[in-house]
Amino acid sequence: MVNIIDGHNIADKLNIETKNRVDELKKKGILPGIVVILIGENPASVLYTRMKQQTAAKMGMHSVLKKFPEDVSQDEVLAAIQEYNEDPTVNAILVQLPLPKHLNQTEIIEAIDPKKDVDGFNSSNVGKLYNNEKGNYPVSCTSRGIMTLLHAYLDQLEGKNVTIIGRSILVSRPLQSLLINENATVTMVSLHTDNIDYYTKHADILVVAAGKPNLIKKEQVKPGATVIDVGINKINKHLVGDVDFDDVKEVAGFITPVPGGVGPMTIATLMQQTVDLTEWSLID
Ligand code: NAD
Repeated sequence: MVNIIDGHNIADKLNIETKNRVDELKKKGILPGIVVILIGENPASVLYTRMKQQTAAKMGMHSVLKKFPEDVSQDEVLAAIQEYNEDPTVNAILVQLPLPKHLNQTEIIEAIDPKKDVDGFNSSNVGKLYNNEKGNYPVSCTSRGIMTLLHAYLDQLEGKNVTIIGRSILVSRPLQSLLINENATVTMVSLHTDNIDYYTKHADILVVAAGKPNLIKKEQVKPGATVIDVGINKINKHLVGDVDFDDVKEVAGFITPVPGGVGPMTIATLMQQTVDLTEWSLID
């Protein structure tokens, strides 16, 4: 029988832990602070940034939503980031992606102080993850959230065959590094891969991050596999994942629903990493 991976439940538990850590810091006179920067009016970005800012506020953190119009200049964004880099009340800076086309995303991400880079996209933090460095540094919140889900349901990842569909720098590649660092065997497939089914059918863990609604069907999944659906697609005002949930749940051992799987973990991990950055700033 299939087991549904309950992202809300795991996220709620993580949020309780994080809130306790916030309360402990506050007793010492320290208030974790996060700034979420939203540029333009992309409806999904407006929704995500509001959820992130509200969750941080609910946890009792110092939480700021900084909005810029769609036509903001590169220099204005860089100046704001510089200001937050120097602001001691801010421990975490998140720039909601994607950015309007006229902006240079790489330059903006690189401008964030690596010690406040709560999404872990700055090349210095990406490099540490890639090199499997020990020590304290942030990583992609969605990827770390997926690792938390996997650890909640599976005994160990060592030796597991994992196939990731998609090779984005925001989710798939950091997840690849996190899995390799735990001795999983990771294959990444993309639109450029021939015979994708070969790789999906061999996977003990199948992660789908393609952004294509209902892409994966039960014939492509190994019986008993763990299936993690990262995709968020809107069809007729409903959210669906990249996995045909009703079909694939007939063969999967564990499966995440959409919504209610990876999504809540992304926000809970963002909160966790904001507190991580705050605590790390005290020991550096
Ligand atoms: P992306 O959109 O940047 O890239 C998609 C990748 O999938 C590419 O590498 C492409 O080659 C591959 N791909 C697309 N169609 C394919 C196909 N038919 N077969 C094989 N490979 C295919 O990737 P992303 O930023 O990781 O986003 C992927 C999805 O995850 C999107 O739906 C996005 O909205 C969602 N997402 C969800 C969360 C969350 O918190 N749940 C976070 C980030 C992204």
